[in-house]
Amino acid sequence: MSNYYNATICENGHTISHNNIVGEKFCEICGAPNISCCPSCGMPIHGKENTSGFVSAKKYIVPKYCYNCGQPYPWTASALEVAAAMIYEDSSLSESEKTKLNDSLPDIVSETPKTRLAGIITKKLLPSAESFTADALKQFIIDFGCELAVKLIMK
Ligand SMILES: [Zn+2]
Ligand SMILES: [Zn+2]
Repeated sequence: MSNYYNATICENGHTISHNNIVGEKFCEICGAPNISCCPSCGMPIHGKENTSGFVSAKKYIVPKYCYNCGQPYPWTASALEVAAAMIYEDSSLSESEKTKLNDSLPDIVSETPKTRLAGIITKKLLPSAESFTADALKQFIIDFGCELAVKLIMK
């Protein structure tokens, strides 16, 4: 069984600490409040893995969804909201294209059985969007997409 250190992350997704030692209430980078527990269920946010008393050497990746209640953490929720708003502002995409793109977002963020499909849909639709929207969505995919989605869409 593996266990985890508690992480402190700001509401915009900056890692403040992934191994417990923290006291700061606000993020030094963006000024947002820091949280150590899921705002929906109160369970601690996982930091790095604790491997027999040592902090794992693996690179820390900020979790996107709560392992206990399945709700997106605040940084994931904001990123999804912003991406959806950009899609709806686009004047080149049809309504059905906007819906398809928007419905693909959660499967781009997390690897699910639908990620491959979401990646193909997104890759097909991006050239129909205004270049401003397409660029912003590509940045969203680089920042928040799971590895598979990044591979499918960006190459
Ligand atoms: Zn921050
Ligand atoms: Zn939760």
